Amino acid sequence: MVKRDISYLNNVDVSEIKGFGEKRIKSLNKSGIKSIVDLIRFFPRKHIDRSSILTIEEVRNLFEIKEITILVEINDVSVFTTRSRLRIATLTVKDDTGAAKAKWFGPQYIETRFKAGDTVAISGIPDIKKTGSVEFKNGTIEKYLDSDELNETGALIPIYKKIEGLSSSLIRKGIKHALKRAPEINDYLHPDQLKLYSLVNRTKSFNDIHFPENLNEYYEAKKRLAFDEFLYLQTIFKKKKAIDKQKTGSEKINSENKLINKFTQNLDFELTKAQHRTINEILKDMNKNSPMKRLLQGDVGSGKTIVAASAVYAVINSGFKAALMAPTEVLAEQHFNSLNPILQKYKIKTYLLTSSVKDRSEMIEQMTSSEPVFFIGTHALIQESISFNNLGLAIIDEQQRFGVDQRRKLIESSNIVPHQIVMTATPIPRTTALAVYGDLDISIIDELPPGRKQIENILLSGLEDDNNAVVDHCIQHLEKNSQIFIVCPYIDESENKDIKAAEKVYKQYENLFPHNNVELLHGRMKSEEKEAIMERMNESKIDILVSTVVIEVGIDIPNATLMIIESAERFGLNQLHQLRGRVGRGSKKSQCIFHISSKLDMSSITDVGNKRLNAIVSTNDGFKLSELDLQIRGEGKVTGTDQSGLSDLKIADLRYDFDILNNSKIFFEKELTEELEEKIYNEAILLFPNFVKTEDTT
Ligand code: ADP
Ligand code: MG
Repeated sequence: MVKRDISYLNNVDVSEIKGFGEKRIKSLNKSGIKSIVDLIRFFPRKHIDRSSILTIEEVRNLFEIKEITILVEINDVSVFTTRSRLRIATLTVKDDTGAAKAKWFGPQYIETRFKAGDTVAISGIPDIKKTGSVEFKNGTIEKYLDSDELNETGALIPIYKKIEGLSSSLIRKGIKHALKRAPEINDYLHPDQLKLYSLVNRTKSFNDIHFPENLNEYYEAKKRLAFDEFLYLQTIFKKKKAIDKQKTGSEKINSENKLINKFTQNLDFELTKAQHRTINEILKDMNKNSPMKRLLQGDVGSGKTIVAASAVYAVINSGFKAALMAPTEVLAEQHFNSLNPILQKYKIKTYLLTSSVKDRSEMIEQMTSSEPVFFIGTHALIQESISFNNLGLAIIDEQQRFGVDQRRKLIESSNIVPHQIVMTATPIPRTTALAVYGDLDISIIDELPPGRKQIENILLSGLEDDNNAVVDHCIQHLEKNSQIFIVCPYIDESENKDIKAAEKVYKQYENLFPHNNVELLHGRMKSEEKEAIMERMNESKIDILVSTVVIEVGIDIPNATLMIIESAERFGLNQLHQLRGRVGRGSKKSQCIFHISSKLDMSSITDVGNKRLNAIVSTNDGFKLSELDLQIRGEGKVTGTDQSGLSDLKIADLRYDFDILNNSKIFFEKELTEELEEKIYNEAILLFPNFVKTEDTT
């Protein structure tokens, strides 16, 4: 038999398949199905089990009522219209063991499609009367010629996404024909490899994903197809990276050890091994004319900022500008406050640009000058009117909070192509990162600075006893002269409601602790006001700081040892982890209380809410949490962007397919020859054009 390549089949038009008229071809085309490959890759959403075919006698004695199929001959067809004009079609049917009835309510025209003497298969959940009579209501019926032709009954029936203008039975038939048209599909994996990686061959995978004999066959098919998709991803990203490496337009940054040591050896603390390693990775990468695109990931508090600052130091010493963009004003200000004093020692000028900076004339002048200076800011950095002269390095902090366009804008706002560092505190395991961040090189800080104490997690309900326990915890921390963060419910996108909620909590704590200094912080405050509050918090002049989620990212106050998250069930897992990371930064023991909304307990919140809260208290490890998050939420939300084309994966699912992904990575590293890679790549660009198209600025 001739084996066909996917690329060959991709050129065979669906119109060549039996049974589709012109109109239906149009409908298929509209749904993006143009070739045979499109059709066999139109994977079912699920299967319904109609595999048990019983005799009428067996149905009568059915122990447990479930969906079954009978093979019968039609005795009689009748139609009856009720007074309320409901049409009821009744078939009387029989097999060797007895007789049964099947009824259809409504205009299904059963009587025109079937006649006495026809052999049919009927599937459904039977009604079994005490008298022993068997009746089906609105079952699925089809003519039975020989068992091969059974499409909708007597098997695991694939269910597809609706295509306008085509019945599901027609889709099934079409796919069957398409599979017959391609009886053997070339497999790029050798039989030995299939065995080694426990995979079924391609032909089988395509057949069984639609028409499995049993569920196990279906899972094996799915596994193989997911494996292929992960291989596609990897080849595409590898190519993309190779192409990126050939690009030029960036400036070579001096990365001599002597230079950078001067900076790193004069900090207030010793860098961790992981920080040293990532700094080296970055410097080595920037010492080229091809633009670096590097993802710097590390758990909350792992010390990403100083790694980025080391890169800034090197870039400025080579005579270029650097810019760091953060998602909130509070965070940009904090970066400015912590980095400016360090960089000043080396006469490096640092500017802070946020939307509350009114007089920008000096800054704009600096941006367009040839001076090597450093800008820290928010979205204000990417306003239309602003462009940089000689921006050698662009850093994006908390990248998950920015859209692709915003990141691109910063990159494109310069006359040269800057090197890029994107930082994220949504750490994900390296294997998964490959799929999520694709074409970025990755540096991981997998070590926390020494002396960090584990944060103790406490989950409390909104019932009275637990509310009192929250107050008791506060008292204990205040007695040790420690400070407390209280983060208020995240209501929705409108900050106004969040502020109202925060004001309420603020009043409550003011009343509870009249002798302590309780203050309120929210995003609508003037920037000087916010800064003053953070400053007072830093100087331990505030005992309890009540805030909206503006506090979420990056804030760093070592003497704060208690974090209380109100209405914790409303927050996302990553948000909870970020918030918790605001404490546990000093030498004192810290606690984080996840406090459920007033009057609620675990049993009254959603399943997903339960899962998230259980996950967050189970571990402080951000890498583990992101894995759990994937499972709870699904992969699309993790990146929050469309950058990787992940949503185009048809079969593979990062929530469940870690093992397959891992295996495919091992395969990719061990078994890939140039020839094989080329084959996989060619298929990949055919099947996933969007992966290739995705813009490459991130
Ligand atoms: P994140 O990775 O969450 O952005 P930061 O860069 O804000 O973390 O660092 C958290 C805190 O840890 C800061 O106060 C920083 O000065 C401090 N820090 C960073 N690296 C070290 C280190 N090697 N030793 C001690 N403290 C460090
Ligand atoms: Mg940070």
